[in-house]
Amino acid sequence: MQIHDLIGIGFGPSNIALAITLEEKKQHGFNVDAFFIEKQPSFAWHANMMLDNTHMQISFLKDLATMRNPSSYFTFINYLHQKQRLQDFINLKTFFPSRHEFNDYLAWAAAHFDSRCAYGEEVFEVLPEKRNDEVTLLRIRSRDAHNVIHERLARNLIVSVGGMPSIPECFLPLKNDARVFHSSGYLREIARHEGAKKVAVLGAGQSAAEIFMDLHNRPGSPQVDLIMRARAIKPSDDSPFVNEIFNADFTDFVFSRSDQDRTALLDEFWHTNYAAPDLVLIEQIFNVFYQQRVTGNTCHRFLRRHEAIGANAGPEGIQLVLKDLNAGREYRVTYDAIVLATGYSRDYHKSLLEPLSPYMGDFTVDRQYRLQSTPNFRPAVFLQGACESSHGLSDTLLSITAIRTDEIGRALLGAVNQPVAKQTGNPIRAVASG
Ligand SMILES: Cc1cc2nc3c(=O)[nH]c(=O)nc-3n(C[C@H](O)[C@H](O)[C@H](O)COP(=O)(O)OP(=O)(O)OC[C@H]3O[C@@H](n4cnc5c(N)ncnc54)[C@H](O)[C@@H]3O)c2cc1C
Repeated sequence: MQIHDLIGIGFGPSNIALAITLEEKKQHGFNVDAFFIEKQPSFAWHANMMLDNTHMQISFLKDLATMRNPSSYFTFINYLHQKQRLQDFINLKTFFPSRHEFNDYLAWAAAHFDSRCAYGEEVFEVLPEKRNDEVTLLRIRSRDAHNVIHERLARNLIVSVGGMPSIPECFLPLKNDARVFHSSGYLREIARHEGAKKVAVLGAGQSAAEIFMDLHNRPGSPQVDLIMRARAIKPSDDSPFVNEIFNADFTDFVFSRSDQDRTALLDEFWHTNYAAPDLVLIEQIFNVFYQQRVTGNTCHRFLRRHEAIGANAGPEGIQLVLKDLNAGREYRVTYDAIVLATGYSRDYHKSLLEPLSPYMGDFTVDRQYRLQSTPNFRPAVFLQGACESSHGLSDTLLSITAIRTDEIGRALLGAVNQPVAKQTGNPIRAVASG
């Protein structure tokens, strides 16, 4: 069986950016044989949230490559050039392309690595391969759509699997009921409920806001209850000084703080990324409710200061037990469908890497995103997108993707035995210009 220098789990923006970095480092004698495994049948970026009229929440300059190498072939600007839309894009006068266009850019970049990615395989296990007392390799096991199991060996691993749907506890017993679904499956699932008359959307973030507007704008729009614990929908703060927390060098600052300082920083800026839709979207929602007051046609409701504390499935719908946190009273409402725009958890790597836990302790990463391990564990295992608590709020976003892959690429150089780099003298310097 071929042994890869590196296997990447997931082929979303984080690992595509890494593939690009490694490709560009080849010009500097750093030749890593990297292979990626992606569970989706082909590249797609949050396909079930690809709603019309949605835009990027980050400048296109924070694409897969520009911040690391502005002259890269893989910049968003070169993508526009290749697609012969550069001039027209300039005339749009925006830093924030539509999500459709950014997805197309990512798919264009990903397609350059088709021979290095196995699509349609879900990794379910990573096993240690031991020689005497040392773990020297990793065995990565995946399953395809026909239930066939594939095994590959790697000297190093990078886990970039994104977030997993976070489901409030009271909905867990209904996980097999198609009438309750997470925003990550929104377009697929709502298509199965086209005749729904009454829908609840839970959440106070960008996804909840987008889904509310999407439902409102549908022909024959259902009645929608937008349900959140918050008193008001607050906008995301992307003003310049606040936005500095997403600068690449801020990662050094966050990582160097004490645990207590880091927690305080994350708390202080939590609202830049969570439970904070774009202001324009908030204004649209406010307008919907205002126009209802003008016409007297109260179709949708904004149930602020409300919490879903129970859910029961019945033939006529899902009955939600709602607690009005202002009045302190509980009541029940029955819905045809419930959308949980309740965010994502970021600890899936712990179950994937569970067989490695004897060597990994509590899964702490170093500054270069490498999991710390016992001395008898040789492979380098990196995480992307699961290091918010140590590296800051930019970790789950696109903000530092390009720079992060450079940092990981350099750390990989230390982990992969590179004869070519060795010839150039100092291996770190040999890559630094990449
Ligand atoms: C709707 C939405 C819009 C967003 N918009 C923005 C934005 O405008 N700006 C911004 O900065 N951030 C945005 N984000 C945040 C988002 O996390 C990043 O944009 C980006 O997707 C992170 O890339 P990633 O590769 O780390 O994770 P993901 O994009 O989630 O990719 C992970 C990949 O791993 C695959 N995978 C998971 N588990 C396995 C497995 N076991 N085996 C094989 N493959 C697996 C998944 O199928 C997926 O393709 C948005 C998030 C959402 C949900």
